[in-house]
Amino acid sequence: MRTIMNMAYIPTIGLEIHAELSTESKIFCGCKNAPNESQPNTLICPVCLGYPGAMPELNKEAVKKVLLVGVALEAKKLGGDDGYTQFDRKHYFYPDIPKGYQISQHLFPLVADGVLRGVGKNGVAVARVHLEEDTAKSSHDGEHSLVDFNRAGVPLMELVTYPDIHSAEDAGAFGEELQLLLKTLKVSNARMEWGEMRVEVNISVSNNDTRGTKVEIKNLNSFKVVRDAIAYEIERQTALLESGGTVVQETRGWNDATGKTVSQRVKETAAEYRYMKEPDIPPFFISTYNFTRESLAQELPILPYVKRKKYIEEYKLQSTQAESIVRSPQASIVFDNALTYTNNAHAIKIANYLTSDVLSYAETLGDTLWNFITGESLGKIIELIEKGTLSSRGAKEVLAIVIKEGGDPLTIAAKNNFIQVSNEGELLAHVQKVIIDNGTVVDEYKKGKVSSLQFLVGSVMKLSKGSANPQKVQELLKEELSK
Ligand SMILES: [Zn+2]
Repeated sequence: MRTIMNMAYIPTIGLEIHAELSTESKIFCGCKNAPNESQPNTLICPVCLGYPGAMPELNKEAVKKVLLVGVALEAKKLGGDDGYTQFDRKHYFYPDIPKGYQISQHLFPLVADGVLRGVGKNGVAVARVHLEEDTAKSSHDGEHSLVDFNRAGVPLMELVTYPDIHSAEDAGAFGEELQLLLKTLKVSNARMEWGEMRVEVNISVSNNDTRGTKVEIKNLNSFKVVRDAIAYEIERQTALLESGGTVVQETRGWNDATGKTVSQRVKETAAEYRYMKEPDIPPFFISTYNFTRESLAQELPILPYVKRKKYIEEYKLQSTQAESIVRSPQASIVFDNALTYTNNAHAIKIANYLTSDVLSYAETLGDTLWNFITGESLGKIIELIEKGTLSSRGAKEVLAIVIKEGGDPLTIAAKNNFIQVSNEGELLAHVQKVIIDNGTVVDEYKKGKVSSLQFLVGSVMKLSKGSANPQKVQELLKEELSK
């Protein structure tokens, strides 16, 4: 951070995040909600094409998803006074807006004044979350511009934070924590690379109590880019002010090739959108649809920041291990269910297998990793190891099969001869044969060459085709050799 007269320039950052909601149908019509459908203009109707006279009808599922986010953010307000909410027209002219306006929420957002926990010490304050329709998608091909309306009318939530963030790192962490929350709530798939979650940043720097001039950065398509663009912009604005220049209020974009932000345009003010109340959608109270804070709260799963705390404090997991489980909603379901299966025993062992063995398949299998493995099967594998029925090597083999095709771990172990033999009678026969066959090594051992024992253990293991419990073998060998 650069300083002038002992006063450091402090960055102040706010975020605007859009996320496509994963509802069955679009926000105002019955068209399928599948914005990444590869056949253009196949999921469309007069409503989402904005034909004159077509009447929008609000999708309650989209309303509910935004309200769930609100409850998870401990929002002080769901709707305005008494839960009142309305939609507004936001006018602007662009080929991907068929009506010449976007139906959005201006004055009475569904959610206001919340906090996202799990980032920084006390979380980050959220100003509002509202519901709106996504735009169509334009693409440019030489002299031609093409518009695909499959995305037009996809329900979109827009979350706006207070300018409560003061570093590039915290801004990136906010984005990642929100993405995790949306996935945990099953509100959005929130994949940045698919455009299901889009981040815009506003940032200013100042070395006194007045906030500096805000610059917006748009089209940031990964959390790394969010961090890089903010770090660059803090440097740029600070250097500009230090050299006696002024920061211009504008919108900038990120250029990946140069690693710099570039000026795009001077920002529109709110008045230029000519907001007006949407006449085709009656305003409503959230209670009109029987939504209450209490009923919504009952549907909330355990939130990521709560899980993280519980895994570390109650189950004594290392914080990096807890983090890698919490970061994957599927992994954390498997972890929780495995613990339920073992009556909360072996938490650390379950976490070890989950993070080092199970998650190592994620690279090759992606989300299909979670098709077969369940908390119960993982819990069973751990119990079989604990009982000595499976060696750690056998457990890995069983796990590989469970992940590939599912099934009961014990049945799989028995069918594939992975069950570890601890039966004394059976092992003793092998031990005695090895002692008879290796007279020289046995003599060496008896004369004090301790390492000879390992050779004998290895020979018994070989004889049992790897199915013997090595600890048991060692015990029996010692016992026989001391006779
Ligand atoms: Zn439609």
